Amino acid sequence: NKDIHELVDLQARLVSANEKLNAVVSFCDVDAQIKDYKMKEDAPLFGTPVVLKDNISTKGVRTTASSRILDNYVPFYDATVVKKLRDAGAIFTCKSAMDELGMGGTGLNAYTGKVNNPYDLERITGGSSSGSAALVAAGLTPLAIGTDTGDSVRKPAAYCGIVGVKPTYGRISRYGVIPYASSLDHVGYFTTNIEDAALALEVMAGRDDQDMTSSYKEVEAYASLLNGDLKGKKIGIITNVIDAIVDPRFRPSFDAFTKKLEEKGTILEMVTIDQDLMNALLPTYFIISNAEATANHSNLDGIRFGMREPGEDLNEIMINSRTKGFSSDVRNRFVIGSYSLFVENQDKIFRKAQKVRRVIVEAVDEALKNYDVLLAPAAGTLAPKPDDSYGEDLNNTFMVAENHMLLGNFSGYPSITVPYDMVDGMPVAINLLARAFDEQTMFNVAKGIE
Ligand code: GLN
Repeated sequence: NKDIHELVDLQARLVSANEKLNAVVSFCDVDAQIKDYKMKEDAPLFGTPVVLKDNISTKGVRTTASSRILDNYVPFYDATVVKKLRDAGAIFTCKSAMDELGMGGTGLNAYTGKVNNPYDLERITGGSSSGSAALVAAGLTPLAIGTDTGDSVRKPAAYCGIVGVKPTYGRISRYGVIPYASSLDHVGYFTTNIEDAALALEVMAGRDDQDMTSSYKEVEAYASLLNGDLKGKKIGIITNVIDAIVDPRFRPSFDAFTKKLEEKGTILEMVTIDQDLMNALLPTYFIISNAEATANHSNLDGIRFGMREPGEDLNEIMINSRTKGFSSDVRNRFVIGSYSLFVENQDKIFRKAQKVRRVIVEAVDEALKNYDVLLAPAAGTLAPKPDDSYGEDLNNTFMVAENHMLLGNFSGYPSITVPYDMVDGMPVAINLLARAFDEQTMFNVAKGIE
Protein backbone atom coordinates (compact mmCIF):
# COMPACT_ATOMS: atom_id res chain seq x y z
CA ASN A 1 0.00 0.00 0.00
CA LYS A 2 2.48 2.53 -1.10
CA ASP A 3 1.49 6.12 -1.67
CA ILE A 4 3.13 7.17 -4.90
CA HIS A 5 3.03 10.80 -3.79
CA GLU A 6 5.75 9.98 -1.26
CA LEU A 7 8.05 9.72 -4.25
CA VAL A 8 8.09 13.51 -4.41
CA ASP A 9 9.82 13.59 -1.01
CA LEU A 10 12.15 10.81 -2.07
CA GLN A 11 13.13 12.83 -5.12
CA ALA A 12 13.96 15.81 -2.91
CA ARG A 13 16.13 13.55 -0.72
CA LEU A 14 17.80 12.16 -3.82
CA VAL A 15 18.65 15.64 -5.08
CA SER A 16 20.18 16.63 -1.78
CA ALA A 17 22.06 13.35 -1.18
CA ASN A 18 23.49 13.58 -4.67
CA GLU A 19 25.47 16.66 -3.66
CA LYS A 20 27.67 14.28 -1.67
CA LEU A 21 27.48 11.21 -3.89
CA ASN A 22 27.78 12.79 -7.36
CA ALA A 23 25.92 9.77 -8.69
CA VAL A 24 23.36 11.40 -10.99
CA VAL A 25 23.69 12.73 -14.53
CA SER A 26 20.05 13.81 -15.02
CA PHE A 27 16.99 13.76 -12.79
CA CYS A 28 13.72 12.49 -14.24
CA ASP A 29 10.46 14.40 -13.94
CA VAL A 30 8.79 12.46 -11.14
CA ASP A 31 5.83 14.86 -10.85
CA ALA A 32 4.90 14.30 -14.48
CA GLN A 33 5.12 10.53 -14.10
CA ILE A 34 2.89 10.61 -11.01
CA LYS A 35 0.35 12.76 -12.82
CA ASP A 36 0.09 10.26 -15.67
CA TYR A 37 0.24 7.23 -13.41
CA LYS A 38 -2.39 4.64 -14.28
CA MET A 39 -1.00 1.52 -12.64
CA LYS A 40 -3.05 -0.64 -10.30
CA GLU A 41 -1.77 -1.64 -6.87
CA ASP A 42 -1.31 -5.24 -7.91
CA ALA A 43 1.35 -4.29 -10.47
CA PRO A 44 4.61 -6.02 -9.47
CA LEU A 45 6.52 -2.75 -9.17
CA PHE A 46 3.62 -0.53 -8.13
CA GLY A 47 4.99 2.84 -7.04
CA THR A 48 8.59 1.59 -7.04
CA PRO A 49 11.27 4.19 -7.73
CA VAL A 50 13.87 2.93 -10.19
CA VAL A 51 17.23 4.39 -11.25
CA LEU A 52 18.57 3.83 -14.79
CA LYS A 53 22.22 3.83 -15.75
CA ASP A 54 22.82 6.62 -18.25
CA ASN A 55 23.55 4.25 -21.14
CA ILE A 56 19.91 3.11 -21.19
CA SER A 57 17.85 5.02 -23.72
CA THR A 58 14.95 7.03 -22.34
CA LYS A 59 12.57 8.78 -24.69
CA GLY A 60 12.84 12.52 -24.21
CA VAL A 61 15.37 12.21 -21.36
CA ARG A 62 19.03 12.98 -22.02
CA THR A 63 21.17 9.84 -22.25
CA THR A 64 24.89 10.57 -22.20
CA ALA A 65 26.59 7.32 -21.14
CA SER A 66 28.66 9.80 -19.10
CA SER A 67 30.57 10.75 -22.24
CA ARG A 68 31.04 14.35 -23.32
CA ILE A 69 30.33 13.37 -26.92
CA LEU A 70 26.74 12.48 -25.98
CA ASP A 71 26.24 15.46 -23.69
CA ASN A 72 23.23 16.77 -25.62
CA TYR A 73 21.85 13.46 -26.90
CA VAL A 74 18.14 12.90 -26.24
CA PRO A 75 16.80 9.56 -27.55
CA PHE A 76 13.43 9.46 -29.28
CA TYR A 77 12.62 5.97 -28.03
CA ASP A 78 12.73 3.91 -24.84
CA ALA A 79 14.91 0.83 -24.33
CA THR A 80 12.85 -2.35 -23.96
CA VAL A 81 13.90 -2.67 -20.34
CA VAL A 82 12.51 0.81 -19.66
CA LYS A 83 9.17 -0.15 -21.20
CA LYS A 84 9.01 -3.35 -19.19
CA LEU A 85 9.78 -1.60 -15.93
CA ARG A 86 7.24 1.13 -16.61
CA ASP A 87 4.57 -1.43 -17.55
CA ALA A 88 5.25 -3.13 -14.21
CA GLY A 89 4.62 0.12 -12.33
CA ALA A 90 8.09 1.65 -11.94
CA ILE A 91 8.66 5.38 -11.66
CA PHE A 92 12.06 6.55 -12.88
CA THR A 93 13.88 8.96 -10.62
CA CYS A 94 17.17 9.59 -12.40
CA LYS A 95 19.84 8.57 -14.89
CA SER A 96 22.97 7.53 -13.02
CA ALA A 97 26.61 8.33 -13.68
CA MET A 98 28.94 5.67 -15.04
CA ASP A 99 32.46 5.18 -16.28
CA GLU A 100 32.38 6.71 -19.75
CA LEU A 101 30.61 4.38 -22.22
CA GLY A 102 30.99 1.56 -19.67
CA MET A 103 34.76 1.65 -19.96
CA GLY A 104 36.18 1.46 -16.49
CA GLY A 105 35.92 -0.27 -13.17
CA THR A 106 36.24 2.64 -10.77
CA GLY A 107 33.57 5.33 -11.09
CA LEU A 108 36.36 7.83 -11.77
CA ASN A 109 35.84 8.01 -15.54
CA ALA A 110 32.50 9.81 -15.85
CA TYR A 111 32.92 13.24 -17.45
CA THR A 112 30.84 14.52 -14.53
CA GLY A 113 33.55 13.44 -12.06
CA LYS A 114 34.12 10.83 -9.39
CA VAL A 115 31.13 8.94 -7.96
CA ASN A 116 31.46 8.61 -4.18
CA ASN A 117 30.92 5.50 -2.08
CA PRO A 118 28.16 6.07 0.51
CA TYR A 119 30.07 4.02 3.11
CA ASP A 120 33.05 6.34 2.85
CA LEU A 121 32.79 9.24 0.42
CA GLU A 122 36.51 9.24 -0.27
CA ARG A 123 36.44 5.71 -1.57
CA ILE A 124 35.43 4.65 -5.05
CA THR A 125 32.21 2.80 -5.82
CA GLY A 126 33.76 0.68 -8.52
CA GLY A 127 32.23 0.75 -11.95
CA SER A 128 31.15 1.11 -14.53
CA SER A 129 27.60 1.13 -13.09
CA SER A 130 28.83 3.44 -10.34
CA GLY A 131 25.93 5.81 -9.73
CA SER A 132 23.35 3.01 -9.75
CA ALA A 133 25.33 1.14 -7.07
CA ALA A 134 25.83 4.25 -4.93
CA LEU A 135 22.13 5.13 -4.95
CA VAL A 136 20.97 1.66 -3.89
CA ALA A 137 23.64 1.51 -1.18
CA ALA A 138 22.57 4.93 0.11
CA GLY A 139 18.97 3.72 0.47
CA LEU A 140 17.69 6.14 -2.17
CA THR A 141 16.22 3.50 -4.48
CA PRO A 142 15.36 -0.18 -4.02
CA LEU A 143 16.23 -1.02 -7.64
CA ALA A 144 18.80 0.42 -10.02
CA ILE A 145 19.59 -0.83 -13.49
CA GLY A 146 23.16 -1.21 -14.74
CA THR A 147 25.09 -3.01 -17.45
CA ASP A 148 27.86 -5.57 -17.07
CA THR A 149 30.46 -6.25 -19.77
CA GLY A 150 33.30 -7.41 -17.53
CA ASP A 151 31.99 -7.01 -13.98
CA SER A 152 30.37 -3.58 -14.10
CA VAL A 153 27.43 -4.53 -11.91
CA ARG A 154 28.98 -7.21 -9.76
CA LYS A 155 32.13 -5.34 -8.72
CA PRO A 156 30.45 -2.09 -7.63
CA ALA A 157 27.87 -4.22 -5.79
CA ALA A 158 30.77 -5.68 -3.81
CA TYR A 159 32.32 -2.30 -3.01
CA CYS A 160 28.94 -0.85 -2.02
CA GLY A 161 27.58 -3.80 -0.01
CA ILE A 162 24.49 -4.56 -2.12
CA VAL A 163 23.17 -7.33 -4.34
CA GLY A 164 24.31 -7.14 -7.98
CA VAL A 165 22.91 -9.42 -10.68
CA LYS A 166 24.14 -10.24 -14.16
CA PRO A 167 21.67 -12.75 -15.62
CA THR A 168 22.38 -15.12 -18.49
CA TYR A 169 23.35 -13.55 -21.84
CA GLY A 170 20.11 -13.04 -23.74
CA ARG A 171 17.89 -13.14 -20.66
CA ILE A 172 17.19 -9.37 -20.63
CA SER A 173 16.79 -7.50 -23.92
CA ARG A 174 19.50 -4.99 -24.74
CA TYR A 175 17.44 -3.08 -27.28
CA GLY A 176 18.02 0.61 -26.65
CA VAL A 177 21.06 0.08 -24.44
CA ILE A 178 24.14 1.93 -25.73
CA PRO A 179 26.52 -0.95 -26.44
CA TYR A 180 30.09 -1.37 -25.27
CA ALA A 181 31.15 -4.86 -26.45
CA SER A 182 28.17 -6.71 -27.84
CA SER A 183 29.34 -10.28 -27.27
CA LEU A 184 29.97 -9.50 -23.59
CA ASP A 185 27.31 -6.88 -22.74
CA HIS A 186 24.50 -7.74 -20.35
CA VAL A 187 21.80 -5.68 -18.69
CA GLY A 188 22.13 -6.20 -14.93
CA TYR A 189 20.82 -4.54 -11.79
CA PHE A 190 21.21 -3.79 -8.10
CA THR A 191 18.87 -4.43 -5.17
CA THR A 192 19.24 -4.59 -1.40
CA ASN A 193 18.00 -8.19 -1.08
CA ILE A 194 17.56 -11.42 -3.02
CA GLU A 195 13.78 -11.41 -3.04
CA ASP A 196 13.71 -8.07 -4.85
CA ALA A 197 16.41 -9.35 -7.19
CA ALA A 198 14.27 -12.37 -8.14
CA LEU A 199 11.20 -10.24 -8.71
CA ALA A 200 13.09 -7.67 -10.78
CA LEU A 201 14.31 -10.36 -13.17
CA GLU A 202 10.77 -11.64 -13.67
CA VAL A 203 9.78 -8.15 -14.74
CA MET A 204 12.74 -7.47 -17.05
CA ALA A 205 13.50 -10.86 -18.63
CA GLY A 206 12.05 -12.34 -21.79
CA ARG A 207 12.23 -12.50 -25.55
CA ASP A 208 12.23 -9.23 -27.44
CA ASP A 209 12.02 -9.32 -31.23
CA GLN A 210 13.99 -6.08 -31.33
CA ASP A 211 17.04 -7.80 -29.82
CA MET A 212 18.02 -10.83 -31.89
CA THR A 213 20.28 -12.08 -29.08
CA SER A 214 17.41 -12.24 -26.59
CA SER A 215 16.28 -15.74 -25.65
CA TYR A 216 12.94 -17.42 -26.29
CA LYS A 217 13.34 -19.39 -23.07
CA GLU A 218 10.37 -18.95 -20.80
CA VAL A 219 10.81 -16.66 -17.80
CA GLU A 220 10.46 -18.52 -14.52
CA ALA A 221 8.61 -17.36 -11.41
CA TYR A 222 11.91 -16.73 -9.65
CA ALA A 223 10.43 -14.91 -6.66
CA SER A 224 7.74 -17.39 -5.72
CA LEU A 225 10.10 -20.32 -6.28
CA LEU A 226 12.75 -18.74 -4.07
CA ASN A 227 14.05 -21.19 -1.47
CA GLY A 228 17.13 -20.52 0.64
CA ASP A 229 17.59 -24.09 1.83
CA LEU A 230 21.27 -24.86 1.33
CA LYS A 231 21.12 -28.48 2.42
CA GLY A 232 22.91 -30.67 -0.11
CA LYS A 233 23.80 -27.76 -2.40
CA LYS A 234 27.16 -28.36 -4.07
CA ILE A 235 29.38 -25.31 -4.12
CA GLY A 236 32.82 -25.14 -5.72
CA ILE A 237 35.12 -22.48 -4.29
CA ILE A 238 37.55 -21.20 -6.92
CA THR A 239 41.00 -21.78 -5.45
CA ASN A 240 42.75 -19.48 -7.91
CA VAL A 241 40.83 -16.49 -6.53
CA ILE A 242 41.42 -17.38 -2.89
CA ASP A 243 45.15 -17.71 -3.59
CA ALA A 244 45.25 -14.31 -5.30
CA ILE A 245 43.82 -12.41 -2.33
CA VAL A 246 46.64 -10.67 -0.54
CA ASP A 247 44.74 -8.51 1.95
CA PRO A 248 45.01 -10.40 5.28
CA ARG A 249 41.85 -8.75 6.62
CA PHE A 250 39.70 -10.82 4.24
CA ARG A 251 40.72 -14.24 5.43
CA PRO A 252 39.10 -14.52 8.88
CA SER A 253 35.76 -13.22 7.69
CA PHE A 254 35.79 -15.44 4.59
CA ASP A 255 36.70 -18.50 6.68
CA ALA A 256 33.88 -17.74 9.11
CA PHE A 257 31.55 -17.38 6.16
CA THR A 258 32.44 -20.75 4.61
CA LYS A 259 32.15 -22.42 8.02
CA LYS A 260 28.61 -21.09 8.29
CA LEU A 261 27.83 -22.42 4.83
CA GLU A 262 28.95 -25.86 5.90
CA GLU A 263 26.81 -25.68 9.03
CA LYS A 264 23.85 -24.96 6.77
CA GLY A 265 24.44 -28.26 4.99
CA THR A 266 26.26 -27.26 1.80
CA ILE A 267 28.83 -29.54 0.26
CA LEU A 268 31.84 -27.28 -0.19
CA GLU A 269 34.78 -28.24 -2.35
CA MET A 270 37.77 -26.39 -3.73
CA VAL A 271 38.03 -26.27 -7.52
CA THR A 272 41.04 -25.08 -9.45
CA ILE A 273 40.83 -23.67 -12.95
CA ASP A 274 43.98 -23.81 -15.08
CA GLN A 275 46.07 -20.88 -13.84
CA ASP A 276 47.27 -19.95 -17.34
CA LEU A 277 43.66 -19.53 -18.39
CA MET A 278 42.92 -17.39 -15.35
CA ASN A 279 45.95 -15.20 -16.15
CA ALA A 280 44.69 -14.91 -19.73
CA LEU A 281 41.32 -13.49 -18.65
CA LEU A 282 42.21 -9.82 -18.68
CA PRO A 283 44.31 -9.65 -21.87
CA THR A 284 41.70 -11.71 -23.71
CA TYR A 285 38.96 -9.43 -22.41
CA PHE A 286 40.77 -6.28 -23.46
CA ILE A 287 41.31 -7.49 -27.01
CA ILE A 288 37.73 -8.62 -27.54
CA SER A 289 36.05 -5.74 -25.71
CA ASN A 290 38.14 -3.00 -27.32
CA ALA A 291 37.70 -4.43 -30.80
CA GLU A 292 33.94 -4.61 -30.39
CA ALA A 293 33.83 -1.18 -28.77
CA THR A 294 35.72 0.41 -31.66
CA ALA A 295 33.19 -0.98 -34.11
CA ASN A 296 30.17 -0.12 -31.94
CA HIS A 297 31.22 3.46 -31.34
CA SER A 298 32.22 4.36 -34.87
CA ASN A 299 28.82 6.06 -35.13
CA LEU A 300 29.79 8.58 -32.44
CA ASP A 301 31.30 11.03 -34.90
CA GLY A 302 29.74 14.36 -34.03
CA ILE A 303 27.63 14.13 -37.19
CA ARG A 304 24.84 11.72 -36.31
CA PHE A 305 24.69 12.11 -32.55
CA GLY A 306 25.68 14.50 -29.85
CA MET A 307 28.35 17.10 -29.61
CA ARG A 308 29.86 18.52 -32.81
CA GLU A 309 33.13 20.44 -32.91
CA PRO A 310 33.88 22.83 -35.77
CA GLY A 311 36.19 21.83 -38.64
CA GLU A 312 37.04 22.70 -42.24
CA ASP A 313 35.56 19.53 -43.69
CA LEU A 314 33.76 16.36 -42.67
CA ASN A 315 36.94 14.58 -41.72
CA GLU A 316 38.16 17.39 -39.54
CA ILE A 317 34.75 17.72 -37.86
CA MET A 318 34.83 14.05 -36.98
CA ILE A 319 38.42 14.12 -35.75
CA ASN A 320 37.82 17.22 -33.63
CA SER A 321 34.55 15.89 -32.23
CA ARG A 322 35.99 12.52 -31.30
CA THR A 323 39.17 14.03 -29.88
CA LYS A 324 37.26 16.43 -27.65
CA GLY A 325 34.27 14.19 -27.05
CA PHE A 326 36.06 11.16 -25.62
CA SER A 327 38.46 10.98 -22.69
CA SER A 328 41.99 9.82 -23.46
CA ASP A 329 41.29 6.48 -21.78
CA VAL A 330 38.45 5.78 -24.20
CA ARG A 331 40.56 6.86 -27.18
CA ASN A 332 43.35 4.55 -26.03
CA ARG A 333 40.92 1.67 -26.03
CA PHE A 334 39.80 2.48 -29.56
CA VAL A 335 43.42 2.44 -30.70
CA ILE A 336 43.97 -1.00 -29.18
CA GLY A 337 40.69 -2.22 -30.67
CA SER A 338 41.47 -0.91 -34.14
CA TYR A 339 44.97 -2.36 -34.03
CA SER A 340 43.69 -5.86 -33.31
CA LEU A 341 41.20 -5.55 -36.17
CA PHE A 342 43.73 -4.55 -38.85
CA VAL A 343 43.60 -7.20 -41.56
CA GLU A 344 47.21 -8.16 -40.93
CA ASN A 345 46.60 -8.51 -37.16
CA GLN A 346 43.21 -10.18 -37.08
CA ASP A 347 44.40 -13.79 -36.97
CA LYS A 348 47.29 -13.05 -34.66
CA ILE A 349 45.32 -11.00 -32.14
CA PHE A 350 41.54 -10.84 -32.47
CA ARG A 351 40.81 -14.41 -33.59
CA LYS A 352 43.36 -15.76 -31.16
CA ALA A 353 41.59 -13.98 -28.31
CA GLN A 354 38.31 -15.52 -29.41
CA LYS A 355 39.87 -18.97 -29.36
CA VAL A 356 41.27 -18.39 -25.88
CA ARG A 357 37.82 -17.27 -24.79
CA ARG A 358 36.38 -20.56 -26.03
CA VAL A 359 38.96 -22.59 -24.10
CA ILE A 360 38.23 -20.59 -20.94
CA VAL A 361 34.49 -21.25 -21.30
CA GLU A 362 35.21 -24.96 -21.70
CA ALA A 363 37.12 -24.85 -18.42
CA VAL A 364 34.14 -23.16 -16.74
CA ASP A 365 31.81 -25.84 -18.14
CA GLU A 366 34.10 -28.52 -16.78
CA ALA A 367 34.11 -26.91 -13.33
CA LEU A 368 30.34 -26.37 -13.31
CA LYS A 369 29.66 -30.02 -14.18
CA ASN A 370 30.05 -31.02 -10.56
CA TYR A 371 28.56 -28.03 -8.74
CA ASP A 372 25.34 -26.06 -8.46
CA VAL A 373 27.39 -22.87 -8.39
CA LEU A 374 30.99 -21.70 -8.31
CA LEU A 375 31.82 -19.26 -5.50
CA ALA A 376 34.63 -16.76 -4.97
CA PRO A 377 35.21 -13.51 -3.11
CA ALA A 378 33.82 -10.78 -5.35
CA ALA A 379 36.80 -8.45 -4.94
CA GLY A 380 40.39 -8.76 -3.79
CA THR A 381 40.32 -5.63 -1.62
CA LEU A 382 37.93 -3.29 0.13
CA ALA A 383 36.74 -0.40 -2.06
CA PRO A 384 39.97 1.53 -2.67
CA LYS A 385 40.56 5.27 -2.53
CA PRO A 386 41.43 6.86 -5.87
CA ASP A 387 44.97 7.60 -4.80
CA ASP A 388 45.65 4.07 -3.57
CA SER A 389 48.24 2.91 -6.03
CA TYR A 390 46.04 -0.11 -6.40
CA GLY A 391 43.05 2.09 -7.23
CA GLU A 392 44.80 3.63 -10.21
CA ASP A 393 45.77 0.25 -11.39
CA LEU A 394 42.34 -1.33 -11.38
CA ASN A 395 42.13 -1.88 -15.08
CA ASN A 396 45.71 -2.93 -15.60
CA THR A 397 46.18 -5.46 -12.90
CA PHE A 398 46.50 -9.05 -13.93
CA MET A 399 45.39 -10.10 -10.51
CA VAL A 400 42.96 -12.95 -10.75
CA ALA A 401 41.14 -11.79 -7.62
CA GLU A 402 40.05 -8.69 -9.51
CA ASN A 403 39.25 -10.25 -12.86
CA HIS A 404 37.62 -13.61 -12.24
CA MET A 405 34.11 -12.28 -12.80
CA LEU A 406 34.99 -12.09 -16.51
CA LEU A 407 34.24 -15.82 -16.48
CA GLY A 408 30.57 -14.83 -16.36
CA ASN A 409 30.84 -12.55 -19.40
CA PHE A 410 32.92 -14.92 -21.51
CA SER A 411 30.44 -17.74 -20.88
CA GLY A 412 27.32 -15.60 -20.59
CA TYR A 413 26.35 -17.59 -17.48
CA PRO A 414 24.36 -15.96 -14.68
CA SER A 415 26.30 -14.45 -11.82
CA ILE A 416 25.44 -12.57 -8.65
CA THR A 417 27.30 -10.62 -5.98
CA VAL A 418 26.03 -10.99 -2.42
CA PRO A 419 27.45 -9.05 0.55
CA TYR A 420 28.16 -11.15 3.62
CA ASP A 421 30.15 -9.14 6.15
CA MET A 422 31.80 -5.85 7.09
CA VAL A 423 35.56 -5.46 7.44
CA ASP A 424 36.96 -2.17 8.81
CA GLY A 425 33.62 -0.47 8.26
CA MET A 426 33.44 -1.50 4.61
CA PRO A 427 31.30 -4.24 3.06
CA VAL A 428 32.75 -7.48 1.68
CA ALA A 429 30.92 -9.78 -0.73
CA ILE A 430 31.07 -13.09 -2.52
CA ASN A 431 30.20 -13.82 -6.12
CA LEU A 432 28.37 -16.84 -7.51
CA LEU A 433 28.46 -18.22 -11.05
CA ALA A 434 25.76 -20.68 -12.14
CA ARG A 435 24.86 -22.65 -15.26
CA ALA A 436 23.23 -20.99 -18.27
CA PHE A 437 19.63 -19.95 -17.54
CA ASP A 438 19.82 -21.45 -14.06
CA GLU A 439 19.05 -18.15 -12.35
CA GLN A 440 16.73 -19.99 -9.98
CA THR A 441 19.57 -22.03 -8.43
CA MET A 442 21.72 -18.91 -8.32
CA PHE A 443 19.00 -16.96 -6.45
CA ASN A 444 18.30 -19.89 -4.13
CA VAL A 445 21.92 -20.27 -3.06
CA ALA A 446 22.20 -16.48 -2.71
CA LYS A 447 19.08 -16.49 -0.52
CA GLY A 448 20.66 -19.12 1.72
CA ILE A 449 23.76 -16.95 2.06
CA GLU A 450 21.99 -13.62 2.58
N1 GLN B 1 36.25 -2.78 -15.86
C1 GLN B 1 35.97 -3.39 -17.12
C2 GLN B 1 36.32 -2.44 -18.25
O1 GLN B 1 36.74 -1.35 -17.97
C3 GLN B 1 34.54 -3.83 -17.19
C4 GLN B 1 33.59 -2.75 -17.44
C5 GLN B 1 32.19 -3.21 -17.69
O2 GLN B 1 31.77 -4.30 -17.29
N2 GLN B 1 31.43 -2.40 -18.41
O3 GLN B 1 36.20 -2.75 -19.39
